[in-house]
Amino acid sequence: MKVPLVLELKGNSLDDGPGIRTAVFFKGCPMRCIWCHNPESKRTEPELSVSTEDCIGCGTCAKVCPEGAASPRRPGIVDRGKCVRCFACTASCPPKALQRVGTEMSVEEITEKCVKDKPFYDVSGGGVTLTGGEATLFPEYAGALAKRLTKEGIRVHLETCGFFRYETVKEHLLPYISGIYMDVKIMDPEAHQKYCGVPNRPVLENLRRLHCDSAEMGFSFLSRTPLIPGITDTDENLTAIADMYREIGITKTELLPYNPTWYKKTAKLGLKRDKELEGLDHWQPKEKIEHCKAIFQKRGIRN
Ligand code: SF4
Ligand code: SF4
Repeated sequence: MKVPLVLELKGNSLDDGPGIRTAVFFKGCPMRCIWCHNPESKRTEPELSVSTEDCIGCGTCAKVCPEGAASPRRPGIVDRGKCVRCFACTASCPPKALQRVGTEMSVEEITEKCVKDKPFYDVSGGGVTLTGGEATLFPEYAGALAKRLTKEGIRVHLETCGFFRYETVKEHLLPYISGIYMDVKIMDPEAHQKYCGVPNRPVLENLRRLHCDSAEMGFSFLSRTPLIPGITDTDENLTAIADMYREIGITKTELLPYNPTWYKKTAKLGLKRDKELEGLDHWQPKEKIEHCKAIFQKRGIRN
C-alpha cells in the first residue's frame, strides 16, 4: 500500500463539504496546474518551507546545517541546490521560519484525531474530507482511512481533480464516500495539457462515470470549476463546460473564485511562478464572477 505524507489536518473547516469538517490534506498530485493554490501539495516527497518574512536573522540554521545550504551571511536564505532536506534546521529555528512540509501519519493516528471532533460533525451534518493534493493517488490508503472513519460513524467526503484510474478508486474508496467535489477545469485538450500537465480525457470520462454511479452507490456529486483569469474563466471555456453538463444531465455546479493566496506560498517553497500568472496576486471582481455564473444559468445549470 502506497502511504502518503499528510500536509495538515485542518479542523473546523466550512469550505470542504457540508457542515463542520476536518480536512485531511494529502501531499502529492498527478496534475501540475500552474495556479495551484496548494503548491506544497504537488510533490509527494517532504519539502522545506522557508519564510523570509518570519526570519529574525539569528543565524542558527547556518550553524546546524551539515551541507552549508543555510547561509551565515544571508540568514533565512537556503540554497536549494545544496539542501538535502535533512530538516536539521527546522527544530532549531526559533520563529519556525523553516518548516518541514509533509508528515507520515497512520490511519489510526488520523482517526484518533478526527474522532475527537465527532460531536461537531454530528450536530452540523459534517465529517471528514479527503483533499490535498489528491487522495486518489493513494487509493488503498485513502480507502482504508475512509473505511475506518465510516466505522466510527463519520461521513467522509472526497475532493478530487478527477485524474485517476476509475476502477481502482471505485473498488477501494468509493464504497466509503458520502459525497464528492470534483474539479472540471479546461475543455480544450491542448490547453488542459498545457496548464494542468495532463490530458483532460480521463477527467471527463471520470466525470461521466461518477455522475452515473452517484445515485447507485449513494454519494452526492458536485462538479466545480476554479475561475482562473484568462485561462478557465473565458466565455469559450465556460460555455463548453456548461454545454457538456447539459449533454450528460448535470444540473448544478459551483464556480470557485480565483484564490491568490498561492502567490506567497510559491516563494516559501522556492518554486517559480508561471509568467502567465505574473501579477495575478489579487481577487477577481464580483462582476466577473456574476458574468461567469450567468453563462451556466442561461443553460439551466444552477450555481
Ligand atoms: S533541511 Fe538540512 S540541508 Fe536543508 S537547509 Fe535545513 S539543515 Fe540544511
Ligand atoms: S534559524 Fe530561523 S530565524 Fe534564525 S536565521 Fe535561520 S531561518 Fe532565520
